[in-house]
Amino acid sequence: MSVKSHIFKCRVCGRYTMQEAHCGAPAASAHPPKYSPQDRYAKYRRLAGRG
Ligand SMILES: [Zn+2]
Repeated sequence: MSVKSHIFKCRVCGRYTMQEAHCGAPAASAHPPKYSPQDRYAKYRRLAGRG
């Protein structure tokens, strides 16, 4: 299951939603981080690889 849709975070209730508005207020864009603290080493592994 992949979620390629835009994800927003409601500023009112703090929940994630796929709607631009939630709780009657515009939701803030909440792009999930593309990397995790544990994955930062993968960056160096890519540099060491064939890229
Ligand atoms: Zn809400």
